[in-house]
Amino acid sequence: MEAMMTGMINNIFFIIFPIILYQMFATAGQRNFFVSHRITMTILFSISIILCMLFPYQFLTEDYIFDLRQVPMIVGALYGGPIVSAVLFIVSAVGRIAIGGDGMYIAILNQFLLAAGVPFLAPLYRKVNRWWKAGLVFIISIVSLLFNLFAGYFFFGDPVHDLIGIWLMLMLNQGGIIILTALLIEHLQKQEYLYTSLMRHEKMETVSHFAAAVSHELRNPLQSIKGFVQLMQEYEYPRSKQLEFQQTILNEINAAENLIDDYLVYAKPAYDELKPIEVEPELLHVIKIMSPYAKARDVEFFVRTDHLPSKILGDSQKLHQALVNIIRNGIEAMPTGGKLDIELENSSQSVCVLITDEGTGMTKEEVKRLGEPYFSNKSKGTGLGLMVTYSIIHQMGGDISVDSEVGMGTKFTLEFPKLPE
Ligand code: ADP
Ligand code: MG
Repeated sequence: MEAMMTGMINNIFFIIFPIILYQMFATAGQRNFFVSHRITMTILFSISIILCMLFPYQFLTEDYIFDLRQVPMIVGALYGGPIVSAVLFIVSAVGRIAIGGDGMYIAILNQFLLAAGVPFLAPLYRKVNRWWKAGLVFIISIVSLLFNLFAGYFFFGDPVHDLIGIWLMLMLNQGGIIILTALLIEHLQKQEYLYTSLMRHEKMETVSHFAAAVSHELRNPLQSIKGFVQLMQEYEYPRSKQLEFQQTILNEINAAENLIDDYLVYAKPAYDELKPIEVEPELLHVIKIMSPYAKARDVEFFVRTDHLPSKILGDSQKLHQALVNIIRNGIEAMPTGGKLDIELENSSQSVCVLITDEGTGMTKEEVKRLGEPYFSNKSKGTGLGLMVTYSIIHQMGGDISVDSEVGMGTKFTLEFPKLPE
């Protein structure tokens, strides 16, 4: 009895282990890993089948040696479809031939019928809820065992009545285990599904907030552009006045452009592929873009870089956006002008960007709230800039830390893992 339990538990382990292993390593967000990863699943289930056959167990009496290979075969066929089923059949048939013995032909015939028949039930299986699924796998498992029982009776004259007790137990045993397996897979899939829909929901939420914030902020420059154009239509102003208006219009257009650069890039899918990029040219580019904004506010940039290779894994547009947000905050923190230090520092392991202003600074509580959506101390602030920035930096595997002192200034440190040359 004890040997039987151990053997059975081994078999259960062989079946369940690959499923859990797979889920552990599967990329999060795959909606249905059995469909999107047929090959992996086929390999894992093949291993289950081989292990089950290598370590069978005696069931109740000495005469009955049994294993649970039917479980991965049935489950694999239901989730994977005909091709997976065919491969699993070949694996189990070859295995069964290697074992040899009396029951070989029946066993292989049984496996063939399972592999050929069960995929036809897959469409039905997909449609029903999980309790029906549990019922369906249970029935398939029992029908398959009944086949063995009667085939044994007709071909080898095994006495059925003697074995009824054993077979009944066997059916309950395998049936229970296959129900557990199916429920486990359903559970994992449901979790994956919940996870993906949560991600999707969050993304939608962010995008719609952005849309709202951007259209709100775009309205201001557009209104003022409209106003000035109307003014110029109504009256023939002197040349100098006109130039002044035109400059204002240009400034507003620039502001609108900045805003679009700032926020709309983020509406791209959040999980783009990352590519190796050099930080230095990106940083210099951003500094160039931001210069007019700084000049208009009497802020002077002090740029220091060590001109060493600074390759990281990232997305250049998003890195721009993150840097723009931080630099802009630094400029805005110095309403009467000042200097903004921008440093690029390389170590063997990481690439650091340090951005230090001598502006208003923040209290500890404020620093803690940075990155929270809609946290803003500015009358026209969106409180989205740093939220976006934090999420971008983290997506690139980077880290962000903030040192700030009220009245003294603030230092933002971005640290990215460095790619080897
Ligand atoms: P916004 O700039 O639209 O207000 P952010 O998310 O960019 O939104 O910043 C949130 C808040 O964090 C700002 O309103 C400001 O109070 C504070 N903050 C960010 N950077 C600095 C800084 N360099 N110095 C002082 N305060 C800052
Ligand atoms: Mg900002």
